[in-house]
Parts: sequence; C-alpha cells; structure tokens
Amino acid sequence: MTLRADLHVHTTASDGQHTPAQVISLARARGLNCLAITDHDTTEGIAPARAAAAVPYFPYEQPRIIAGIELSAEEQIPRSNGRFSTLDVHMLGYFLRVEDAALQAALATFREDRESRASRMADKLAALGAPVAWERVVALAAGGAIGRPHLARALIEAGHVDTTQQAFDRYLHTDGPAYVARQRMTPEAAVALIRQAGGCAVLAHPGQLPDPRGMVLRLIPAGLDGVEIAHPSNTPALREDLRGLAHLHGLIATGGSDFHGAMLKPDNRLGEPAPPPDAIERLEACARQRQSAAG
Ligand code: AMP
Ligand code: FE
Ligand code: FE
Ligand code: ZN
Repeated sequence: MTLRADLHVHTTASDGQHTPAQVISLARARGLNCLAITDHDTTEGIAPARAAAAVPYFPYEQPRIIAGIELSAEEQIPRSNGRFSTLDVHMLGYFLRVEDAALQAALATFREDRESRASRMADKLAALGAPVAWERVVALAAGGAIGRPHLARALIEAGHVDTTQQAFDRYLHTDGPAYVARQRMTPEAAVALIRQAGGCAVLAHPGQLPDPRGMVLRLIPAGLDGVEIAHPSNTPALREDLRGLAHLHGLIATGGSDFHGAMLKPDNRLGEPAPPPDAIERLEACARQRQSAAG
C-alpha cells in the first residue's frame, strides 16, 4: 500500500481547529491514508483519531494513525542589550509508547503550566488595554492543551485584532508585551523524554530557527533521530541544505503540513508538503529498534 501521509497534524486536543474525527474526514477527502497526530504536549487526540479511522467508510482505505507529539522546548538567546530573547524549539516525537508513565507525568505538568501561563498572559492583555474573558479562552481550548492560538482567537473575538498574525505580532510573540515564558525545557531534554518513551525525536520546522544547521548539529550528540525537512516554513534552499546534512549524519528526513486548520494558518493544507517516501518506514524501524533494545 502506498502511503500518502501527513506527519505533522494538530487537533482540538491542542491548538488545532478540527477535532480528531474531523481531521480523519479531511484526510479521507484529500486521499491521505496515514496521519501522525502531533499535538502540543498531549497524546489525547490519538485514541479518538484511531477510533474515527477504524470506522469503515467506502470507498476510502482506513487511515493509519501514528502516535506522535510536539514538545515545546525553549532556548535563551543573548541580545546585544544584555537581555535575553526566548526562542521556541519544537521537537516532534513518533511511534511513542503513549502509556509511558514518565511521558504522561511530564505532559501533565506541561499542560498545567500552559494553563497558568495563559491566565497570566490574559492578565497582561488586560493591563495592555486588550482584555479577553478568561472563561472564553478556556472555552476555546475546549479541554485541550491551551496555547497562545486560543488567546489569539479570543483577541479577535473581542475586536482587539483582526487576524491571528496581528495577535502574535502585537502581543503574543516571544518578545511581545503579553508574552509569559513557560516552564523551561531544553531541546536536549525534549529529545530524551521522547526517546525514553520509545519514540524517535525529530526537530520540527527548523526554518523557524535562526541557525537551523547549528541546532541540528548540536542535538546529534543528544540523540536526535531526524529533522523535518518538508515543512511550509522551510525554504527550498534550506531543505536542500538539510537533506545533505541529514544524509551525512544518518538522520531521518521527515515532513508534514503542521496542520492547524485555515482559521489559524490560512494557507495550511493537510498533506502538503508530503514527507519523503521512506520517512515512515525509517521512523518505524528506529522506534522498533529502540523499544526492543529497552526490552
Ligand atoms: P504556545 O504553544 O502557546 O507557545 O503557542 C505556539 C503556537 O502558536 C504554535 O504551535 C503555532 O500553532 C502558533 N503560532 C506561533 N506563532 C504564530 C503566528 N505568527 N501566527 C499564527 N500562529 C502562530
Ligand atoms: Fe500549534
Ligand atoms: Fe511547532
Ligand atoms: Zn506543530
């Protein structure tokens, strides 16, 4: 069976617009038969996606669901004025043992931190003259892992901004006036957390980093398994450069759309760009080997 896959997909379990079942319907409509559910700091979208995928729906194949995650690590970058800027470094994990106790314990603390951090950001927004109702932010998160996109939507609804992009540009970006840092985790710790849960660690959207190549090289000794090469925010030149780097160091080249739905990312299309054809096979072999080594 030829796999037509998207290896980077968000649902309402975190900041995606569509429920897991809706994402499965979209995948079928777009002719995809394999999805990795990679929500921020939660694996709660995986079981509902599998349940929806298991419902036979002629003439579609049953999509295969890969258990994934996207962890938020951070890096402090010194600025010329002696202060520090925060850099988001996202780490994808694939073929995880979802039931792993250490993984779930860590994810639970990350989600608690997300909630208290979001409420502090809401306080800052009020102080900045752009108040949003906290109850509304919580309702928008709908029980999932809360994130800045939920605050962005509340800002739009309250009429303080017109678009998500404006909400991030004016208030929510990492150096923005309403930003509150999360509980910090290094990119190395994110790699370790994924690996101890039997998964493979892949650096997400390196094109969003100031020095993608440097981050890849730095994380190889920490056990990085792969790098997300096909991603909407990676330029063709960067993809070419990273393909060479991945090949040289035996890293798995992956790809995905980072699907969140058109409300958050207007040009976002499920399944585009497609991952390299051998990505799934290589990720699976990597995880199988890790899990059999761990016994
Ligand atoms: P958080 O998880 O709270 O740190 O929020 C990060 C999430 O916000 C990312 O995963 C994206 O989904 C979204 N995001 C970050 N920057 C932007 C932006 N400029 N426009 C739209 N969404 C963004
Ligand atoms: Fe997101
Ligand atoms: Fe990300
Ligand atoms: Zn993502």
